[in-house]
Amino acid sequence: MSKKVLVLGETREGALRNVSFEAIAAAKKISGGGEVVAVLLGESVSDFGNELVAYGADRVITVEHPHLKSYTSDGYGQAFMAVVDQEQPEAIVFGHTAVGKDLSPKIASKLQTGLISDVTDIEGEGDDAVFIRPIYSGKAFEKVKLKEDGVVFVTVRPNNIAPLEREERSGDVSSLSVDITNLRTIIKNVVRKSAEGVDLSEAKVIIAGGRGVKSKEGFEPLQELADLLGGAVGASRGACDADYCDYSLQIGQTGKVVTPDLYIAAGISGAIQHMAGMSNSKVIVAINKDPEANIFKVADYGIVGDLFDVIPLLTEEFKKV
Ligand code: FAD
Repeated sequence: MSKKVLVLGETREGALRNVSFEAIAAAKKISGGGEVVAVLLGESVSDFGNELVAYGADRVITVEHPHLKSYTSDGYGQAFMAVVDQEQPEAIVFGHTAVGKDLSPKIASKLQTGLISDVTDIEGEGDDAVFIRPIYSGKAFEKVKLKEDGVVFVTVRPNNIAPLEREERSGDVSSLSVDITNLRTIIKNVVRKSAEGVDLSEAKVIIAGGRGVKSKEGFEPLQELADLLGGAVGASRGACDADYCDYSLQIGQTGKVVTPDLYIAAGISGAIQHMAGMSNSKVIVAINKDPEANIFKVADYGIVGDLFDVIPLLTEEFKKV
C-alpha cells in the first residue's frame, strides 16, 4: 500500500539543512509511490518551500508564527500536530538532529506509535521497507520493521541517505494557520557558544582534536585545515574536559554522532566512547604519536607522528590541489 509521508524540513541560520533533503529521499522510499508532504515550521520559512519541492517533496505545508522563530518542543509540537491532524499521514520522517531527537518521541507518544530512530539506511520500499540502524554504540547494525499497523515514524541520521537529484519540479506550497497557545517556554534570545560555520553533524570533512592537541591554541592548525577543506573542527571529550574547546564540538557517545566523508583524528587515543560517535565515517585518518593507539584499529589510514608536524604538512599539500 502506498503511504502519505510527512517530512519535517529544518532550517539553520537562514538556510535549509541538508538533512531535510535526505529525509525527503527516505520518505520517498517509505511512501512506496504515495505522497511526500514536507512541513516547514518557523517565523518566516515559506521562501524555502520550492527548494523542498525541487528535492522531491510533492507538496509543502508551512506554519509561520513568531513563537516558531526558535525551536521549543511545545511550539513545534503544537504546530506539527496541527499538520498531522489535517493530513492524517501514514508515516513521518524527521532528521536525527537535536530538533528531531527532541521532538520525535513527543509526537510519537501523542500518536501512540513506535519510533525507529537514527536510521542509516532503508532496504525495500513501502510496506516492505526495512530500516537499518546502529546498535551497541555503532558496533552492530539491526534491521527493524514495524509489525503492527499505525504511523511509521522514523528519524534519519544526517549524511547517510543520499538526497534525490535536484530538479525543477512543480508542487503546491501552502500555509496552515495555527494558534500557538499556552507555551511553557518562550525563547527571547539565542546566544551561540560555538563559532558559526559548517554544522558538525552535517560536515563532509571533520578535523577532530584530542588531548594530544594540548591547548586552545593547539586547535588553530586544525581549524586552518578544516577551513581549507570546507569542513568543521570536532573534539574528543578529553580535549573538551581540558578546556581546549567547547563541549559543543564533542564527538562520541555523549557528544555528537557524525558520519563525514573524511574524519581526521589528531591526538585522539580512540576510546570506545569516542569511536561510538565517529566509527561510521566513510574514510578515517588517524594521527597519533603512539603506534599502539586504539584509534588505528578503525583508521583507514594511520600516520604515526606528531600532529603539530603532520597537520601543517597536510595543509600545505591540500593548498596545492
Ligand atoms: P587521551 O586518551 O589522553 O589520548 C590522547 C592521545 O593523544 C594519545 O593517544 C597520545 O598518544 C596522543 N598524542 C599526544 N600528543 C600527541 C601529538 N603531539 N601528536 C599526536 N598524538 C599525540 N570521549 C569522547 O571523546 N566522546 C564522548 O562522547 C565520550 N563519552 C564518554 C562517556 C562516558 C560515560 C565515559 C566514562 C567516558 C566518555 N568519554 C568520551 C571519554 C573517553 O573515555 C576518553 O577519556 C576520551 O575520549 C579521551 O580523549 P582523548 O583521546 O583526547 O585523550
